[in-house]
Amino acid sequence: MLCSPEELVQKNQAVTEAWARYRAVPSFESFVELAVSINSFTEFLIDKGVAALHHASHQLEQVALARFNEEVAHPLPQHELDDLDQRIATLAQMTRSHADATAGRVERRMETTLGTRNTLEVVHTWLIGHDAEPWQALLAQLGYFGIGAEFLTWDSALPEDNGGAPLLLLDLNSLPVAEWSERIQVLRQRYAMGQIICIGVPSEFEPLQQALRGGCDGCLLEGTSLHGIVERIMELNERQEQEAYRVLIVEDSKTASHLIQRTLEENQIVSEIVNDPRQVLSALRQFNPDLILMDMYMPNCTGVEAARIIRQHGEFLSTPIVYLSGETNVALQVDAMRLGGDHFLTKPFNPVFLNAIVKSKIERYRALRRTMYHDSLTGLLNHSSGKHTLDMLLSSVGHEGGLLSVVMMDIDHFKKVNDSYGHPVGDQVIRSLSWLLKQRLRKHDVLCRYGGEEFLIALPHTDADQAFVIMDRIRQDFSQIRHPFGNSHFLATGSGGIATYSLYRTGDALIKAADEALYQAKRSGRNRIEISGT
Ligand code: GH3
Ligand code: MG
Ligand code: MG
Ligand code: MG
Repeated sequence: MLCSPEELVQKNQAVTEAWARYRAVPSFESFVELAVSINSFTEFLIDKGVAALHHASHQLEQVALARFNEEVAHPLPQHELDDLDQRIATLAQMTRSHADATAGRVERRMETTLGTRNTLEVVHTWLIGHDAEPWQALLAQLGYFGIGAEFLTWDSALPEDNGGAPLLLLDLNSLPVAEWSERIQVLRQRYAMGQIICIGVPSEFEPLQQALRGGCDGCLLEGTSLHGIVERIMELNERQEQEAYRVLIVEDSKTASHLIQRTLEENQIVSEIVNDPRQVLSALRQFNPDLILMDMYMPNCTGVEAARIIRQHGEFLSTPIVYLSGETNVALQVDAMRLGGDHFLTKPFNPVFLNAIVKSKIERYRALRRTMYHDSLTGLLNHSSGKHTLDMLLSSVGHEGGLLSVVMMDIDHFKKVNDSYGHPVGDQVIRSLSWLLKQRLRKHDVLCRYGGEEFLIALPHTDADQAFVIMDRIRQDFSQIRHPFGNSHFLATGSGGIATYSLYRTGDALIKAADEALYQAKRSGRNRIEISGT
């Protein structure tokens, strides 16, 4: 999400330089280099959440990739050179203005991001439209989650962008469709770090084209439910920072392995090199990669053998393995894949393809892991991974002699919610509580959907009294959230129990004690938090 203005300019510089090299020596090889540098810049923008430049960079990448073919003669025809030249210059200019506009702000953002989320790190949210009336319910609902969205009309003066990354919700319906793109572009320029979502967009080609062309981050179609809109906004507020992709390179040649490492680095992919395949198991355990790039021919052991050895270990059964080899023998490739590989790249590899393959394999692998470890309704850790994470946390807390509080939280009279409003509405109440928890708790807190409407929470470095203050605030706010039902709404409450390490020393003991405190809270009338042993 974050990068310094200097880093941004430097990254863009690489594109401009690659272009200059191509202009000097217009060959396929130098064009490949250019394409790689543009791709790398686009990926960087996505990685750092610089939405303002992403659109232009992505379009440039598309134009370059359309020429990415060994049959295309170089230099390209003059009009294509001119087009590329202009796009690259515009992107460089946009990058500079963006860097100037954001200089001085980034540090402030770093502080908020690194700080705790208890003090509600909510982005500024503005809803710009013609009439607030249709959006009253949305504004109110956001308010319950602690997001104070302000309504502005299209004629009002735009507020100062005071350093954050504001969220702009646009209702463009009162404006002629032909103006949409330009209006969005103006906002894009002004709120360079912001997110722009168009709401209530007619689901036809032209309005969508205009909105997306203007550089908005997404459109919510006309007829999207209130809950659908709130959900999208909550997702944007979560700002989950993705961890960098990790690749283990198993390759006996030092030169080849460093070349691969450099290519991956250009795309912000972290890698580690193993030159001796016999070290692969310990490297896997230590480095915990998302993917293995495996050379086919190494002394002592072939890549296929190493892959089979890796696959004997349950924990690495689904880690993708991509073979690298000079071999173009199709039968051999098929054989290699059959024996535990996922893909085959022939050397010398094309860097754009290497990155594309690595990324898509890792995305699939991570998505798979998400479904294994996370709950599909709320996105929180599921029961078993929540317990496992708590145990891991306890072992490090044990070493450091630190503090930890465990909370069990459960929605009150949830059966009644289901009985009165139906199961899907009940699901929505569960999600509301999970959103609230995600928003209020810190990044290093553990959040797990332990059962149906029951949540397990672990708060490191937090004693029972501190945990009480945090959880009681969440309890109060949860009781204020209006859950929509038909034209009306209803309220729900929750209760919680807290137990603290080192009064209880194992995960099971902590959960049991927190559960007993929860039942104490239930017996004492619900909508309250109790601390175990008090
Ligand atoms: P208490 O205040 O004592 O917690 O009362 P309660 O009604 O919430 O108690 P109980 O734990 O007995 O009931 C929980 C209900 O939650 C039972 C089950 O049908 C429902 N439930 C469990 N999982 C889900 C789910 O994923 N979605 C929905 N909508 N309901 C669920
Ligand atoms: Mg080799
Ligand atoms: Mg309950
Ligand atoms: Mg329950």
